[in-house]
Amino acid sequence: MADDLFADAASWGFETRAIRAGQPHDPTSGAVVTPISLATTFVQEDVGVHRGYEYSRTGNPTRAALQACLASLEGAAHGLAFASGMAAEDTLLRTLSPGDHIVLGDDAYGGTYRLISAVLAPMGIEWSAVDLTDPTALATAMRPETKVVWAETPTNPLLTVVDLTAIAEVTHAGGAILVVDNTFATPYLQQPISHGADVVVHSTTKYCGGHSDVVGGFLALDDDELAERLAYLQNAIGAVGSPFDNFLTLRGLKTLAVRMDRHCENATDIADFLERRDEVAEVLYPGLPNHPGHAAAARQMKRFGGMVSFRLRAGKAAAMRFAASTRVFSLAESLGAVESLIEHPGAMTHASAAGSPLEVPADLIRLSVGIESIDDLIGDLTDAFDRLSTRSVGADR
Ligand SMILES: *Cc1c(COP(=O)(O)O)cnc(C)c1O
Repeated sequence: MADDLFADAASWGFETRAIRAGQPHDPTSGAVVTPISLATTFVQEDVGVHRGYEYSRTGNPTRAALQACLASLEGAAHGLAFASGMAAEDTLLRTLSPGDHIVLGDDAYGGTYRLISAVLAPMGIEWSAVDLTDPTALATAMRPETKVVWAETPTNPLLTVVDLTAIAEVTHAGGAILVVDNTFATPYLQQPISHGADVVVHSTTKYCGGHSDVVGGFLALDDDELAERLAYLQNAIGAVGSPFDNFLTLRGLKTLAVRMDRHCENATDIADFLERRDEVAEVLYPGLPNHPGHAAAARQMKRFGGMVSFRLRAGKAAAMRFAASTRVFSLAESLGAVESLIEHPGAMTHASAAGSPLEVPADLIRLSVGIESIDDLIGDLTDAFDRLSTRSVGADR
């Protein structure tokens, strides 16, 4: 049935598929927009004879539309939507057995690190964290038991870029599958399957939803057998979002392309602005020619994304004060929505990584650059720098 929802979309461009794939006009009413199907159960014409839906945990029309749409955007044959990014990750990793080994990028999302190191490891899953920008380090970390290599690019919050083609080769040579968390790039900027990834993971809470109003997760993949196993687990575990959640995410996807273009433009301008500030020790943005991953990013991404991190010369206390002093950038965790957010990863999103291989520098500030007027965003950061210099006279270092 998901196949019918793809049928008309195969030849369309990204923006058209974002609006139409999996979303035929409602045949009963002609409604242009996919309805929110709240029914938990679906009538059967005869025992076991139905229109593709029996029970809403197993399958739901609104979820099916989202699954078809986002799978199409990733260029994948199959898509599965979940209640959160972590629910998607957990469901995927339940395909592993005790003794299996995961190689995780040493700059992974903190929640992924926590799931693997604190929830799955006590159940017998082995793991190690490796610098995935170095394919030789990955080759060395591969074991006969390695089943999954888990990569993000660009990473959170250091915006490190991993060369997907290079690590896909090493992963496959070692007999494992490559999972790529594509939350930061989105399918508009990067389609990991076309660079050798086997499974794409999303927190759709971020750019896909795009408005800070719905939590969700997604898996996209080509392999029929693994997709069947994951659909089984999706139903057996039941970590699925509500039809209303699915509707909001589907609605967000319609504007993904135009939002990402503006996120990228604003982020580029802000990275250039930060590069010119004396207070800044380092700007981390893959679009800057001096970024170590710039060449790989230019090969595998359409543009360079909406996330910018930077380090303040004045250190940790100044970074925390700066993050708390902006007005247009709101001090908050999360990312990827229309409004700009600022945070101090060392004390907020990545506080639990202290002392682990994933610890982040204390002078680091992360920006999720929104789609507001660029003059307001740069004005806000300029004011924050001004306040920093007046207040830091005689202040701590
Ligand atoms: C937020 C995030 C997740 C987890 O997703 P939730 O929707 O919060 O469960 C996973 N990976 C990355 C890169 C994220 O930013």
